[in-house]
Amino acid sequence: MKKGVVIIGFGGQGKWHAKHILASDVVTLAGVYDIRKERNDMATEMGIHAFASLQELLEAKADIALIATPNDVHKQLAIAAMASGKHVICEKPVTLNVADYDEIIAAAKQYGKVFEVHQNRRWDVDFLAMKELINSEKIGKPLYISSIVHGSRGIPGDWRTQKEYGGGMLYDWGIHMIDQLLQLIPAPIVSLYCMTTHYTNSEVDDGYKLYLTFANGVTAFSEVGTYNFISMPRFYGQFEQGTSIIADWHDSMRVVECLNWGEGEVHPVQTASGITKTMAPRSNLSVNEYIAPKPVSDVHDFYRNLVAAIDGKAEKLIADAEVRRVLQVLEAAFESAAKKQVIHFSSPL
Ligand code: NAD
Repeated sequence: MKKGVVIIGFGGQGKWHAKHILASDVVTLAGVYDIRKERNDMATEMGIHAFASLQELLEAKADIALIATPNDVHKQLAIAAMASGKHVICEKPVTLNVADYDEIIAAAKQYGKVFEVHQNRRWDVDFLAMKELINSEKIGKPLYISSIVHGSRGIPGDWRTQKEYGGGMLYDWGIHMIDQLLQLIPAPIVSLYCMTTHYTNSEVDDGYKLYLTFANGVTAFSEVGTYNFISMPRFYGQFEQGTSIIADWHDSMRVVECLNWGEGEVHPVQTASGITKTMAPRSNLSVNEYIAPKPVSDVHDFYRNLVAAIDGKAEKLIADAEVRRVLQVLEAAFESAAKKQVIHFSSPL
């Protein structure tokens, strides 16, 4: 039997979940509640039951509560939902700091409930393409990974521009980008440096640049920008035997494998102030270039895994320790940006 889900917060992401839950093979939608009446009215118009109050939702017979409100109230709602006997799916960023997250995990233990964070960008095909290339070692191990997301409309919406709600792009997109990078590079972090930008908003960051150094020597760069009228490539990777690039969300990954490092005769190219061999393109004979097949991904696997975890048949795909580590990186990134200093971890993170 499908498990019943109630959604708290029926804005953009609450609606996204409602759409997917209505099409799910493992969960069904039991109703929604939003503090704004017009959102509840919208749900009713869509044929979805709207609870009259949070209390009514908490008292309802449902297996899972899904929290899709602004970030500052995730903790109190998650704990209340688990106290009412429900398992919980919580939107990212789960909390604004590690201490609040620890309180949620303690409550999950206390009430014996499954709590999982919706880090849904683990199902993004661009990320999965990079993961497959790294795992296959087709062009060796990674040396450097760059993960960039650029927009040109500033911080979206209302609460995302305000600190008290947990606004800013490090919380909004950074949490996804850091989570993905930690999945791609399975090694402890020894140091990081972060710069935040405030081109369009002084209260919270409208973008950031983050450098991570791992204990295995791999480095990573993550950038989110909302004032970029031309975008940099989504993913770029330097490997022991080649380079990979994914230009944009829906593009396939282009891979150039180095076949012959010392390729022999090099024909120089003309630059603005002279010729160069160093920056000249390689001959086609010394490289193997190909387009990698796009990975297949299904966002419904998130709900399927959660239900299997509730039934004791699987481990959660988004593990508590992984979520906690991403929050630790985020805290250190804010510290680095505030102090304008590199943060060194005495015990690698
Ligand atoms: P939104 O502003 O569109 O919707 C939030 C809704 O929550 C609003 O309708 C608001 O009235 C309601 N709300 C606020 N406080 C509430 C409370 N105490 N009880 C009940 N309802 C309350 O915001 P959004 O874009 O839907 O973002 C919601 C959450 O989802 C955020 O945590 C955000 O980071 C996350 N999100 C995740 C993804 C993803 O890809 N995983 C994408 C977008 C948003």
